[in-house]
Amino acid sequence: MGKGKILVTGGTGYIGSHTVVELCNAGYEPIIIDNLSNSNINVLEGIKTITGHPVTYENIDCKDYNSLERFLEKHSEIVAIAHFAASKSVGESVNNPLLYYRNNILSLINLLQLMAKFNIKNIVFSSSCTVYGQADVLPVTEQTPIKPASSPYGSTKQMCETILQDAAFANKDLNAILLRYFNPIGAHPSAEIGELPNGIPNNLLPYITQTAAGIRKELSVFGDDYNTPDGSCIRDYINVVDLAKAHVVALNRMVEGQNKKNIEIFNLGTGEGVSVLEIIRTFEKATGVKVPYKIAPRRAGDIEKVWADTSYANKELGWKAETSLEDTLLSAWNWQKKLAEKNLGN
Ligand code: UDP
Repeated sequence: MGKGKILVTGGTGYIGSHTVVELCNAGYEPIIIDNLSNSNINVLEGIKTITGHPVTYENIDCKDYNSLERFLEKHSEIVAIAHFAASKSVGESVNNPLLYYRNNILSLINLLQLMAKFNIKNIVFSSSCTVYGQADVLPVTEQTPIKPASSPYGSTKQMCETILQDAAFANKDLNAILLRYFNPIGAHPSAEIGELPNGIPNNLLPYITQTAAGIRKELSVFGDDYNTPDGSCIRDYINVVDLAKAHVVALNRMVEGQNKKNIEIFNLGTGEGVSVLEIIRTFEKATGVKVPYKIAPRRAGDIEKVWADTSYANKELGWKAETSLEDTLLSAWNWQKKLAEKNLGN
Protein backbone atom coordinates (compact mmCIF):
# COMPACT_ATOMS: atom_id res chain seq x y z
CA MET A 1 0.00 0.00 0.00
CA GLY A 2 1.02 3.56 -0.77
CA LYS A 3 4.15 5.20 0.47
CA GLY A 4 5.53 2.51 2.76
CA LYS A 5 5.50 1.33 6.33
CA ILE A 6 6.22 3.65 9.25
CA LEU A 7 6.91 2.13 12.66
CA VAL A 8 5.14 4.28 15.24
CA THR A 9 6.38 3.62 18.77
CA GLY A 10 3.90 4.86 21.34
CA GLY A 11 1.25 4.93 18.62
CA THR A 12 -1.67 4.51 21.02
CA GLY A 13 -0.58 7.58 23.00
CA TYR A 14 -1.86 11.12 22.61
CA ILE A 15 0.36 12.52 19.87
CA GLY A 16 1.20 9.09 18.45
CA SER A 17 -2.45 8.21 17.76
CA HIS A 18 -3.13 11.51 15.98
CA THR A 19 -0.01 10.98 13.89
CA VAL A 20 -1.10 7.45 12.97
CA VAL A 21 -4.31 8.93 11.54
CA GLU A 22 -2.42 11.58 9.54
CA LEU A 23 0.01 8.94 8.24
CA CYS A 24 -2.93 6.91 6.95
CA ASN A 25 -4.41 10.06 5.36
CA ALA A 26 -1.08 10.66 3.63
CA GLY A 27 -0.92 7.13 2.18
CA TYR A 28 1.59 5.58 4.58
CA GLU A 29 1.03 2.31 6.40
CA PRO A 30 1.66 2.96 10.09
CA ILE A 31 2.42 -0.01 12.33
CA ILE A 32 2.11 0.60 16.02
CA ILE A 33 4.07 -0.76 18.93
CA ASP A 34 3.18 0.33 22.45
CA ASN A 35 3.40 -1.18 25.92
CA LEU A 36 0.16 0.59 26.96
CA SER A 37 1.93 1.97 30.05
CA ASN A 38 0.11 5.29 29.65
CA SER A 39 -2.50 4.62 26.99
CA ASN A 40 -5.58 2.56 26.34
CA ILE A 41 -6.07 -0.21 23.80
CA ASN A 42 -9.47 1.32 22.87
CA VAL A 43 -7.57 4.02 21.00
CA LEU A 44 -7.18 1.48 18.19
CA GLU A 45 -10.96 1.50 17.75
CA GLY A 46 -10.99 5.29 17.47
CA ILE A 47 -8.25 5.16 14.84
CA LYS A 48 -10.17 2.51 12.93
CA THR A 49 -13.38 4.57 13.00
CA ILE A 50 -11.57 7.60 11.58
CA THR A 51 -9.43 5.87 8.96
CA GLY A 52 -11.88 3.12 8.01
CA HIS A 53 -9.46 0.25 8.52
CA PRO A 54 -7.56 -1.44 11.34
CA VAL A 55 -3.92 -0.58 11.99
CA THR A 56 -1.35 -3.25 12.84
CA TYR A 57 -0.52 -3.17 16.53
CA GLU A 58 1.70 -5.22 18.84
CA ASN A 59 2.32 -4.85 22.55
CA ILE A 60 6.07 -4.28 22.63
CA ASP A 61 8.16 -2.38 25.13
CA CYS A 62 10.98 -0.51 23.39
CA LYS A 63 13.22 -1.18 26.40
CA ASP A 64 13.08 -4.86 25.49
CA TYR A 65 15.76 -5.19 22.82
CA ASN A 66 14.98 -8.83 22.02
CA SER A 67 11.25 -8.37 21.42
CA LEU A 68 11.94 -5.28 19.37
CA GLU A 69 14.44 -7.25 17.31
CA ARG A 70 11.98 -10.13 16.77
CA PHE A 71 9.30 -7.63 15.75
CA LEU A 72 11.57 -5.98 13.19
CA GLU A 73 12.58 -9.36 11.78
CA LYS A 74 8.89 -9.94 10.99
CA HIS A 75 8.28 -6.49 9.49
CA SER A 76 10.63 -5.80 6.65
CA GLU A 77 10.49 -2.70 4.47
CA ILE A 78 9.95 -0.16 7.23
CA VAL A 79 10.92 3.16 5.65
CA ALA A 80 11.03 5.23 8.83
CA ILE A 81 10.32 5.34 12.55
CA ALA A 82 8.26 7.91 14.41
CA HIS A 83 9.41 7.50 17.99
CA PHE A 84 6.85 8.69 20.55
CA ALA A 85 7.18 5.98 23.19
CA ALA A 86 8.43 7.80 26.28
CA SER A 87 7.43 8.93 29.75
CA LYS A 88 6.38 12.57 29.84
CA SER A 89 5.34 13.82 33.25
CA VAL A 90 7.68 16.42 34.75
CA GLY A 91 6.49 15.82 38.34
CA GLU A 92 6.70 12.05 38.10
CA SER A 93 10.23 12.32 36.71
CA VAL A 94 11.34 14.33 39.76
CA ASN A 95 10.06 11.59 42.07
CA ASN A 96 11.18 8.66 39.95
CA PRO A 97 14.14 9.79 37.84
CA LEU A 98 15.52 6.31 37.14
CA LEU A 99 12.25 5.26 35.53
CA TYR A 100 12.62 8.22 33.17
CA TYR A 101 16.26 7.62 32.33
CA ARG A 102 15.57 3.93 31.74
CA ASN A 103 12.40 4.39 29.68
CA ASN A 104 13.39 7.32 27.55
CA ILE A 105 17.05 6.68 26.95
CA LEU A 106 17.19 2.92 26.72
CA SER A 107 14.30 2.86 24.24
CA LEU A 108 16.05 5.28 21.92
CA ILE A 109 19.37 3.42 22.08
CA ASN A 110 17.65 0.10 21.31
CA LEU A 111 15.87 1.63 18.34
CA LEU A 112 19.00 3.24 16.94
CA GLN A 113 20.96 0.00 17.24
CA LEU A 114 18.23 -1.96 15.52
CA MET A 115 17.79 0.67 12.83
CA ALA A 116 21.42 0.06 11.87
CA LYS A 117 20.91 -3.70 11.95
CA PHE A 118 17.75 -3.65 9.82
CA ASN A 119 18.86 -0.83 7.55
CA ILE A 120 16.10 1.58 8.56
CA LYS A 121 17.44 5.01 7.73
CA ASN A 122 14.96 7.58 8.99
CA ILE A 123 13.69 8.59 12.42
CA VAL A 124 11.56 11.45 13.65
CA PHE A 125 12.01 12.08 17.35
CA SER A 126 9.61 13.70 19.84
CA SER A 127 11.61 16.40 21.56
CA SER A 128 10.25 19.27 23.58
CA CYS A 129 10.59 22.99 24.20
CA THR A 130 11.54 21.88 27.70
CA VAL A 131 15.10 21.61 26.36
CA TYR A 132 15.31 25.43 26.30
CA GLY A 133 14.44 25.94 29.98
CA GLN A 134 13.65 29.61 30.74
CA ALA A 135 15.19 31.30 27.73
CA ASP A 136 16.61 34.81 28.12
CA VAL A 137 15.19 35.97 24.80
CA LEU A 138 11.71 35.19 23.43
CA PRO A 139 10.48 33.78 21.16
CA VAL A 140 12.91 30.85 21.10
CA THR A 141 14.51 29.83 17.83
CA GLU A 142 16.19 26.50 17.18
CA GLN A 143 19.49 28.30 17.91
CA THR A 144 18.45 29.50 21.36
CA PRO A 145 21.02 28.18 23.85
CA ILE A 146 20.04 25.05 25.73
CA LYS A 147 19.93 25.71 29.48
CA PRO A 148 20.32 23.08 32.20
CA ALA A 149 17.12 21.04 32.38
CA SER A 150 14.70 21.76 35.21
CA SER A 151 13.63 18.11 35.63
CA PRO A 152 14.84 14.56 34.91
CA TYR A 153 12.22 14.47 32.13
CA GLY A 154 13.86 17.52 30.54
CA SER A 155 17.27 15.93 30.99
CA THR A 156 16.14 12.83 29.12
CA LYS A 157 14.98 14.95 26.17
CA GLN A 158 18.30 16.80 26.13
CA MET A 159 20.24 13.54 26.39
CA CYS A 160 18.18 11.90 23.65
CA GLU A 161 18.91 14.86 21.39
CA THR A 162 22.64 14.44 22.11
CA ILE A 163 22.46 10.69 21.44
CA LEU A 164 20.79 11.36 18.09
CA GLN A 165 23.36 14.05 17.22
CA ASP A 166 26.22 11.67 18.01
CA ALA A 167 24.61 8.74 16.19
CA ALA A 168 23.95 10.87 13.10
CA PHE A 169 27.51 12.20 13.18
CA ALA A 170 28.94 8.69 13.31
CA ASN A 171 26.56 7.24 10.73
CA LYS A 172 25.88 9.49 7.75
CA ASP A 173 23.27 7.00 6.49
CA LEU A 174 21.07 7.85 9.45
CA ASN A 175 18.57 10.70 8.98
CA ALA A 176 16.96 12.20 12.05
CA ILE A 177 14.50 15.03 12.47
CA LEU A 178 14.04 16.29 16.03
CA LEU A 179 10.74 18.03 16.62
CA ARG A 180 10.63 20.32 19.63
CA TYR A 181 6.97 20.45 20.62
CA PHE A 182 5.56 23.37 22.54
CA ASN A 183 2.27 22.60 24.37
CA PRO A 184 0.11 20.15 22.37
CA ILE A 185 -3.60 20.41 23.15
CA GLY A 186 -6.97 19.53 21.65
CA ALA A 187 -8.29 16.40 20.01
CA HIS A 188 -9.21 15.01 16.62
CA PRO A 189 -12.24 16.92 15.24
CA SER A 190 -14.17 13.62 15.06
CA ALA A 191 -13.76 13.29 18.86
CA GLU A 192 -12.78 9.65 18.26
CA ILE A 193 -9.29 10.12 19.71
CA GLY A 194 -7.81 12.64 22.12
CA GLU A 195 -5.81 12.98 25.31
CA LEU A 196 -6.52 10.30 27.91
CA PRO A 197 -4.58 10.98 31.10
CA ASN A 198 -4.42 8.32 33.80
CA GLY A 199 -5.93 9.58 37.05
CA ILE A 200 -5.71 13.24 38.04
CA PRO A 201 -4.35 15.20 35.09
CA ASN A 202 -1.10 17.10 35.43
CA ASN A 203 -1.57 19.13 32.27
CA LEU A 204 -3.70 22.23 31.96
CA LEU A 205 -6.14 21.25 29.22
CA PRO A 206 -7.35 17.89 30.55
CA TYR A 207 -7.69 19.54 33.95
CA ILE A 208 -9.81 22.30 32.44
CA THR A 209 -12.08 19.92 30.50
CA GLN A 210 -12.53 17.64 33.53
CA THR A 211 -13.38 20.67 35.68
CA ALA A 212 -15.84 21.93 33.07
CA ALA A 213 -17.40 18.45 33.06
CA GLY A 214 -17.75 18.51 36.85
CA ILE A 215 -15.26 15.68 37.44
CA ARG A 216 -12.92 18.09 39.28
CA LYS A 217 -14.24 20.78 41.62
CA GLU A 218 -12.03 23.62 40.45
CA LEU A 219 -8.89 24.32 38.52
CA SER A 220 -5.86 25.65 40.36
CA VAL A 221 -4.10 28.36 38.41
CA PHE A 222 -0.51 27.93 39.45
CA GLY A 223 0.63 31.47 40.18
CA ASP A 224 -0.69 34.94 39.29
CA ASP A 225 2.44 36.84 40.27
CA TYR A 226 4.67 36.05 37.31
CA ASN A 227 6.20 38.81 35.24
CA THR A 228 3.52 38.52 32.52
CA PRO A 229 0.66 40.90 31.62
CA ASP A 230 -1.95 39.08 33.77
CA GLY A 231 0.53 37.40 36.15
CA SER A 232 -0.13 33.79 34.97
CA CYS A 233 2.36 31.70 32.98
CA ILE A 234 2.57 31.92 29.22
CA ARG A 235 2.90 28.96 26.84
CA ASP A 236 2.55 28.27 23.13
CA TYR A 237 -0.43 25.91 22.75
CA ILE A 238 -0.41 23.94 19.51
CA ASN A 239 -3.27 21.90 18.08
CA VAL A 240 -2.45 18.18 18.20
CA VAL A 241 -3.66 17.50 14.64
CA ASP A 242 -1.51 20.35 13.30
CA LEU A 243 1.36 18.82 15.26
CA ALA A 244 0.64 15.35 13.86
CA LYS A 245 0.70 16.75 10.32
CA ALA A 246 4.18 18.15 10.92
CA HIS A 247 5.38 14.58 11.53
CA VAL A 248 4.10 13.53 8.12
CA VAL A 249 5.93 16.46 6.53
CA ALA A 250 9.13 15.55 8.40
CA LEU A 251 8.86 11.90 7.35
CA ASN A 252 8.17 12.84 3.72
CA ARG A 253 11.23 15.09 3.84
CA MET A 254 13.54 12.24 4.86
CA VAL A 255 11.92 9.52 2.76
CA GLU A 256 12.12 11.75 -0.32
CA GLY A 257 15.70 12.81 0.50
CA GLN A 258 14.79 16.50 0.83
CA ASN A 259 16.51 17.00 4.18
CA LYS A 260 19.43 19.43 4.08
CA LYS A 261 21.49 17.72 6.79
CA ASN A 262 21.23 14.24 8.21
CA ILE A 263 20.09 15.73 11.49
CA GLU A 264 17.64 18.61 11.61
CA ILE A 265 15.75 20.33 14.41
CA PHE A 266 12.45 22.21 14.21
CA ASN A 267 10.29 24.09 16.69
CA LEU A 268 6.64 23.11 16.46
CA GLY A 269 4.42 25.78 17.93
CA THR A 270 2.06 28.52 16.83
CA GLY A 271 4.37 31.44 17.57
CA GLU A 272 1.73 32.88 19.96
CA GLY A 273 2.19 33.07 23.71
CA VAL A 274 -1.06 32.61 25.68
CA SER A 275 -1.50 32.88 29.46
CA VAL A 276 -3.30 30.37 31.67
CA LEU A 277 -6.04 32.93 32.43
CA GLU A 278 -6.44 33.63 28.70
CA ILE A 279 -6.85 29.91 28.07
CA ILE A 280 -9.63 29.72 30.66
CA ARG A 281 -11.42 32.76 29.18
CA THR A 282 -11.09 31.48 25.61
CA PHE A 283 -12.31 28.01 26.63
CA GLU A 284 -15.38 29.53 28.29
CA LYS A 285 -16.09 31.67 25.24
CA ALA A 286 -15.62 28.81 22.75
CA THR A 287 -17.72 26.28 24.67
CA GLY A 288 -20.13 28.40 26.71
CA VAL A 289 -19.15 26.33 29.77
CA LYS A 290 -17.75 27.85 32.97
CA VAL A 291 -14.45 26.71 34.44
CA PRO A 292 -14.40 27.33 38.19
CA TYR A 293 -10.87 28.21 39.26
CA LYS A 294 -8.80 29.56 42.11
CA ILE A 295 -5.40 31.12 42.20
CA ALA A 296 -2.94 28.71 43.77
CA PRO A 297 0.79 28.95 44.58
CA ARG A 298 3.31 28.59 41.78
CA ARG A 299 4.08 25.00 40.74
CA ALA A 300 7.68 23.90 41.32
CA GLY A 301 9.65 23.55 38.10
CA ASP A 302 7.36 25.80 36.00
CA ILE A 303 9.03 28.35 33.81
CA GLU A 304 7.44 31.77 33.50
CA LYS A 305 6.99 32.08 29.77
CA VAL A 306 7.94 30.47 26.51
CA TRP A 307 6.74 30.59 22.94
CA ALA A 308 8.20 29.56 19.64
CA ASP A 309 9.75 31.33 16.74
CA THR A 310 8.28 29.09 14.06
CA SER A 311 9.76 30.80 11.02
CA TYR A 312 12.32 28.07 10.34
CA ALA A 313 9.70 25.27 10.44
CA ASN A 314 7.28 27.38 8.37
CA LYS A 315 9.87 28.06 5.69
CA GLU A 316 11.80 24.78 5.59
CA LEU A 317 8.95 22.34 6.17
CA GLY A 318 6.28 24.42 4.44
CA TRP A 319 4.20 23.67 7.53
CA LYS A 320 2.22 26.02 9.72
CA ALA A 321 -0.12 25.57 12.67
CA GLU A 322 -3.54 26.36 11.23
CA THR A 323 -6.26 25.63 13.77
CA SER A 324 -7.47 28.54 15.88
CA LEU A 325 -7.20 28.36 19.65
CA GLU A 326 -11.03 28.50 19.92
CA ASP A 327 -11.49 25.51 17.61
CA THR A 328 -8.74 23.61 19.41
CA LEU A 329 -10.31 24.22 22.82
CA LEU A 330 -13.70 23.23 21.45
CA SER A 331 -12.22 19.97 20.12
CA ALA A 332 -10.82 19.22 23.59
CA TRP A 333 -14.27 19.81 25.09
CA ASN A 334 -16.01 17.62 22.48
CA TRP A 335 -13.54 14.86 23.28
CA GLN A 336 -14.22 15.22 27.00
CA LYS A 337 -17.95 14.85 26.33
CA LYS A 338 -17.30 11.79 24.16
CA LEU A 339 -15.23 10.24 26.95
CA ALA A 340 -18.20 10.57 29.28
CA GLU A 341 -20.38 8.80 26.66
CA LYS A 342 -17.82 6.02 26.33
CA ASN A 343 -17.49 5.89 30.10
CA LEU A 344 -13.74 6.34 29.80
CA GLY A 345 -13.45 9.63 31.69
CA ASN A 346 -11.93 9.63 35.15
N1 UDP B 1 -1.29 24.87 34.94
C1 UDP B 1 -2.18 25.36 35.88
N2 UDP B 1 -3.01 24.49 36.52
C2 UDP B 1 -3.01 23.15 36.26
C3 UDP B 1 -2.11 22.64 35.29
C4 UDP B 1 -1.25 23.53 34.65
O1 UDP B 1 -2.21 26.56 36.14
O2 UDP B 1 -3.78 22.40 36.88
C5 UDP B 1 -0.40 25.80 34.24
C6 UDP B 1 1.08 25.49 34.43
O3 UDP B 1 1.54 26.16 35.59
C7 UDP B 1 1.67 26.05 33.14
C8 UDP B 1 0.57 25.83 32.11
O4 UDP B 1 -0.63 25.64 32.85
O5 UDP B 1 1.87 27.43 33.27
C9 UDP B 1 0.82 24.62 31.22
O6 UDP B 1 1.09 23.53 32.05
P1 UDP B 1 1.13 22.04 31.49
O7 UDP B 1 1.39 21.12 32.66
O8 UDP B 1 -0.09 21.76 30.68
O9 UDP B 1 2.35 22.02 30.48
P2 UDP B 1 3.92 22.41 30.70
O10 UDP B 1 4.07 23.78 30.12
O11 UDP B 1 4.23 22.33 32.16
O12 UDP B 1 4.63 21.38 29.90
